[in-house]
Amino acid sequence: MSDQNPVFIPGPTNIPDRLRRAMQVQTQDHRSPAFVNTLAPVLKGCKTVFGTAKGEIITFPASGTGGWEAAITNTLSPGDKVLVARYGMFSHRWIDMCQRHGLDVQIIECPWGSGAPADRFQEALSADKDHSIKAVLVTHNETATGVRSDIAAVRGAMKASNHPALLMVDCVSSLGSMPFEMDTWGVDIAVSGSQKGFMLNTGMAILAVSPKALAMMETAKLPRTFFDFRDMMGANAKGGFPYTPPLQLIYGMAESLNMLFEEGLDNVYARHTRIAEGVRRAVAAWGLKLVAQTPDLYSDTVSAVFVPEGFDSNRLTERVFGTYGMSFGVGLGEMNGRAFRIGHLGSLTESMMLSGLATLEMAMADLNYPVKMGSGVIAAQEYYRATAKPVLAEK
Ligand code: PLP
Repeated sequence: MSDQNPVFIPGPTNIPDRLRRAMQVQTQDHRSPAFVNTLAPVLKGCKTVFGTAKGEIITFPASGTGGWEAAITNTLSPGDKVLVARYGMFSHRWIDMCQRHGLDVQIIECPWGSGAPADRFQEALSADKDHSIKAVLVTHNETATGVRSDIAAVRGAMKASNHPALLMVDCVSSLGSMPFEMDTWGVDIAVSGSQKGFMLNTGMAILAVSPKALAMMETAKLPRTFFDFRDMMGANAKGGFPYTPPLQLIYGMAESLNMLFEEGLDNVYARHTRIAEGVRRAVAAWGLKLVAQTPDLYSDTVSAVFVPEGFDSNRLTERVFGTYGMSFGVGLGEMNGRAFRIGHLGSLTESMMLSGLATLEMAMADLNYPVKMGSGVIAAQEYYRATAKPVLAEK
């Protein structure tokens, strides 16, 4: 049965039983004092995951896209200029949202497979002598291409050009799976969601907002009601919500944070790196190429893989789902038909990953890919064996 298989799409991710159980709670009155005890630990725990002591955590019942909208509407006014590099589908969609909100978007076009170009940001910011650019928007982990960008380098470019713009970062597909250091990197707004590293269902946009970004909400003129930081923060400060909260998801978040902290964030990140490296070894053994151009850009949550010349990646994802009931990510935008994606984030073990690689190999063999069946699985197995950490202490 296909619903027994893990998914290997880069979010939403597999929901562990422990989190499904945590969300099986009866409705509670969100205006009762008990609600404070539900929400407050979640806001506190999220600070640790974002790597912020100074930032405020603000959540909305929305997906990550709602988080983007909240970030821009609470800090910017119509006609404000923002600087964004386009290097994949999600940086593209954020640009589109800014344009639809009447912002003046200065776009740095980059090849898909590359990352945020700190040097070109620096050039653009240095040229902006009157500081008309109000915000720089960066996608930390471009889920369409499997590229992780260097956020500290972007902040470095902003410092080098002595530019006061806000730094907004999309960490929807990285937070909770790869290190994120909001305060150290000087991020003003970081946007994420519940359905990837937090291993939950979709429905909670989670933002971390710096004091500098919060100060801008009083003068920002883009319209917002549902997403108004002031309403949410005001209600949260009194232990409430400005409208009906997604109670079950808040319970889920509390338990997700427990799981992440029990494993230890560093161990969570190391697990993702290790599983991802096994996938990369498999891809190399198949003789296929990653979309990410260089190893420093490799994402530990998703790998986008080019199919060989003359093959259509959509046929592969259709075959693996249609025949074996397993989901992998399709190629998005420019990558449609050219690349497929392997999601390797959230609740995942190396054994689960091996089942995914083995199943992909069957589908590739069915479609006559020039790939030796078993070669990728063996490469990943060898890497996982060589780096295994026993789950039980050996006698
Ligand atoms: N940003 C990135 C990097 C994503 O991967 C996604 C979704 O996959 C989004 C934004 C949009 O988030 P959502 O689908 O939760 O609205």
